Amino acid sequence: MSSVSVLPPTSARDDASALAEALAQGQIVAAFQPKVTIATGELIGVEALARWTSPSRGKIDPEVFIPIAEREGLITDLTLAVLQDALNTCALMRRHVPDITMAVNISPTLLSNPELPDLIDQALCRARVPAHALVAEITESQAIIDLPAARRTLEALRSRGISCSIDDFGTGHASLLSLLRLPFSELKIDRAFVSGCAEDREAEMIVRATLGLAREMGLHVVAEGIETEITEAVLRELGCRTGQGFRYGKPVAAQSMLARLREPSGEKWFNA
Ligand code: C2E
Ligand code: MG
Ligand code: MG
Repeated sequence: MSSVSVLPPTSARDDASALAEALAQGQIVAAFQPKVTIATGELIGVEALARWTSPSRGKIDPEVFIPIAEREGLITDLTLAVLQDALNTCALMRRHVPDITMAVNISPTLLSNPELPDLIDQALCRARVPAHALVAEITESQAIIDLPAARRTLEALRSRGISCSIDDFGTGHASLLSLLRLPFSELKIDRAFVSGCAEDREAEMIVRATLGLAREMGLHVVAEGIETEITEAVLRELGCRTGQGFRYGKPVAAQSMLARLREPSGEKWFNA
């Protein structure tokens, strides 16, 4: 991502006010990346990824501004902005692909907010999108500190029909214990293992073991970071059904995604 800048050295206060202003001005929007059935290339969902283009500083990487939002108490506002943008776009996508799902990233810190399920309900209502079309991807940027509160929130989401996914499995803070104790329905294998699984025996073993674990637990699995045909072939052989990665498409703006869905072959996503 060479065009993406990091913030120049500034104080935490400056970063927080720049981000708060960006949120107020609607500069934080979602980009969308396809999730496909590996065997057929059929589009089954998209993931919404926050994008910030600052008029003065250009594109800023989410790996830079998400931690600022988490640290500075802006993550709820940021998440709600991305969520609403994503669900509004999802409503338009569902005209072309009626069963498409929309994944939105949720920081672990938000799971201790008891209002989160109601806030998500309100966003779903405004966009007129059914709860079962939403996947909440719990990013592993920070450890889940308050496990009982996280469980209550995830149970409330699941009871509404929202899927809950554990993101970056294998590299984040997720422990096997949190996987066992929290009501997840999906597991995303981190691209650190996926991208190397065709050449690296250890990465392949980890992917294989994770698929076995997920199968035991009845979890749907998504392999993240599939870039090449050979990686795709290995995952297919290992029994992984769903994939995401540059092989199928990079994250793009809502308009580009919708234009693609309007094409006659809009549901097929072999990209390479
Ligand atoms: P993530 O949720 O695991 O999202 C996947 C990241 O991997 C995205 O980076 C995506 O562009 C990138 N990616 C997907 N396929 C490939 C591939 O084949 N090769 C390579 N090299 N990269 C691939 P992005 O958009 O820079 O986001 C980075 C992280 O920032 C996300 O990781 C997520 O943890 C966080 N993030 C992004 N948007 C949000 C948000 O709205 N809320 C929260 N809390 N976190 C967010
Ligand atoms: Mg994610
Ligand atoms: Mg991930």
